[in-house]
Formats: sequence, structure tokens, C-alpha cells
Amino acid sequence: MTDTKPHIVVGGGIMGLAIGWRLLREGAEHVEIFEAGEAARSSAAWVAAGMLSPRAEAGFEDLDIYEEGLRSLDLYPQFLDELCEDAGALVPQFDRCGALVLATNADEARELDRQYNFRTQANIPVERLSGDATRDREPLLSTKVTASLWLEQEAQINNRQLCLALKAAFLKRGGVLREHCKISEIVSANGSAVAVRFGEEEMAARSITIAAGAWSSTIKGLVPAIPVRPVKGQMIGLRMTPHTRLKQSIRAPRVYLAPKDDGRLLVGATAEEVGFDKRILAGPIMELLHFAWEIVPAIYELEIEETLASFRPATRNHRPIVGKSEIENLYYATGHWRHGILMTPLTAKIVTANILEGSRSPLGAKGKEWVA
Ligand SMILES: Cc1cc2nc3c(=O)[nH]c(=O)nc-3n(C[C@H](O)[C@H](O)[C@H](O)COP(=O)(O)OP(=O)(O)OC[C@H]3O[C@@H](n4cnc5c(N)ncnc54)[C@H](O)[C@@H]3O)c2cc1C
Repeated sequence: MTDTKPHIVVGGGIMGLAIGWRLLREGAEHVEIFEAGEAARSSAAWVAAGMLSPRAEAGFEDLDIYEEGLRSLDLYPQFLDELCEDAGALVPQFDRCGALVLATNADEARELDRQYNFRTQANIPVERLSGDATRDREPLLSTKVTASLWLEQEAQINNRQLCLALKAAFLKRGGVLREHCKISEIVSANGSAVAVRFGEEEMAARSITIAAGAWSSTIKGLVPAIPVRPVKGQMIGLRMTPHTRLKQSIRAPRVYLAPKDDGRLLVGATAEEVGFDKRILAGPIMELLHFAWEIVPAIYELEIEETLASFRPATRNHRPIVGKSEIENLYYATGHWRHGILMTPLTAKIVTANILEGSRSPLGAKGKEWVA
């Protein structure tokens, strides 16, 4: 007898939408996404900068995350091609714009040298540029910039458009999207996740995937709770003009600038351990603008279009929690920290294979389990 219960995905951010769509695309008959707010727009993915930057992000302690990021980046073109089949013109361009990592003083230049040496030893393609060579690449940069690393292979995407395309593709494939419907609890019986609870109601599930981002730990019924905490990021959206248009992502120690193809220039972002406090405060916004103005003086003239805040889903070691859990029928796609847009194609592929083929994270880095 066929199981008519739905595959349930908790969370309609980028992970939930991508997993829901892929499940349907790969043969699942009935998939329902539950979203506490409005799918895409209530998520951290809506606020994110959309930088796909494993090479720029690679830190001394982070080589696993770097390798997983690289694998996910490699999956992006095919992921978008497949998305095009279901969402057509809504799908955003994959932009291999490259990234510049800047230094503006002697301390930062020394740090840049260490970063350069670390990357060359790890075989990460990188070029070290002088201040003038950096300005040749990006003429809007200030003369305060003394050196940079140029990472030619880095990419970016319009993450908002990507979320909207995933939502459209999910719906086109017959997925059921329940917005303003917050899951309060996962119901288990005999070591197996069997249902979700929302309001006064309960719905039986064939499988349950937790893709609730920074909120994943607030869902009851999971023992122990998923070890994810919110790290707040405040961000500013400026409107570029024809004369003030950056060509690539710019990273400096205290700020980054990410130009989007819809004319927005995102200036970000803070990283604050303040729980779920979503207020936008004058101080951090002033500082971000000041740091951005120091490296690109022309932003002084740009219109502030929006200020935003959301929460990165952080684990203690910044590794994501992805795949089949210890509880039967329960899967995780959370804890993606500041790499969730980058990690979407790989995560969706792994979780979908886990659910539909019963595999246990066979696609995890170097065959390692991803489950925390
Ligand atoms: C300022 C900022 C900048 C960033 N920049 C980048 C970047 O440049 N590149 C990059 O790769 N990543 C970036 N990130 C990180 C990225 O946004 C996250 O890693 C990613 O959004 C995580 O995806 P998610 O689907 O797990 O969570 P989210 O995108 O947050 O989605 C989770 C969804 O679940 C819903 N939800 C929560 N609880 C429940 C519940 N109980 N029931 C139902 N629904 C629920 C929420 O409303 C939300 O819509 C940035 C993040 C921030 C905050």
C-alpha cells in the first residue's frame, strides 16, 4: 500500500524551499512546507548578501567548510539549469564576479599576507594585488586601499530572486505551502518522528525535515534540542547609480559591499550575540556606513533604500547539521551559519537523497557524516 502521508519540511527559507522542490522533482508525490511567516521573505535568506565565496571565507580552522562550499558552488550551474525547467525566467544569473579582500593599513596588510600564504599553501587560487592594481580592477575604491587579494573564481547570486524562483518551482511541481503556520512540536513514537504539531492541530508525516534556520532549536519535541543559535546580522541596502556601480564583491575587515544585478548595493554586516532581537539600531548602521564610505567614498551620495536584520543559524563549530538524524524519519538541514546561500545546492541534494533513497549522508565531505 502506498504511503499517502506527506513529506513535511519545517521552514520556508532557502533550505526548506530547495529541499521541497527537489523532493518533488525527484519523485516524491506529496510534499508540504510549513512556514511560520511568509515563505522566502521572513527568512535570513531574504536578508543575506548572496555571496558565494568559499575561497574568500576559508579560514585557518575552516578547511572542511571550504571544501564543502567548493562542492556546493560547483553544483550551482546545474542546480540553476534544473530550476530553470520549473521556474523559467524567474531564475537569477549565476555571476562569477570574483571578490576583492582589502587592506587599508599596515596591520591589515600583514593579515592579508597571512591569508595569502594560507591560501597558497592550501592550493586556493589567489592573487595578491597592490593598491593601484586593486583600483585598476575597481576604480571606485579609495586611495586608502593599500593591497588586496583577488579571488577570481568567487561568485554571487541574487538570493532574493533565487528564493522566489524556488518557491515558484515548488508550487509548480504541486507542492503545498502553508504560510503563517508555525510548527510548535515534532511528535515521536517508538523512536520515530511521526507528526508535526501546529496550533491545535497535528499532521502525520512520512518524513520530517527541520529547515527552520536560526529558529530550529525552538521547536519542541527534539531531545536534545538542535544546537543552533541565532547570530544577528544588520545590513543596509543602498541604491547604486550608473556612475557608482561596483563590479565585484568587496570585503574589508569590518565591512563588505555586495553589488546586486537589480541595482542594490548591500553593505553588511554585523555579527551580534543578542538572541532574537531584530531591532535595527543607529550605532551599527552608522558604523557600517562609515567603514563602507572609507573604502568606497562614492557611497556618500547613494540613497539608503532599506535597513535589514536577520539571524544566521550558528552551531558551535560553524559546521552545518545536515542529513538523517538519530530519530527515524527525521532529517536536518540547518546550522548553515553565514554560508547558507552557498550551501543550498549541496544540502538539498544530500537531504533529498537521504529521504528518498534511505542513504545516510553519502555525499558529505570526504564521506564523513554531517549529522551533529
Ligand atoms: C546579514 C546576513 C548576511 C548573509 N550573507 C550571506 C551570504 O552572502 N552568503 C551566504 O551563503 N549566506 C549568507 N548568509 C547566511 C544565510 O542567510 C543563511 O545561512 C541561510 O539563510 C540559512 O537558510 P535556512 O533556510 O536554513 O534559514 P532561513 O533562511 O532563516 O529560513 C528559515 C525559515 O524557517 C521559518 N521558521 C522558523 N521557525 C519555524 C517554525 N517553527 N515553523 C515553521 N517555519 C519556521 C522562518 O520563518 C524562516 O522563513 C547571511 C545571513 C545574514 C543574516
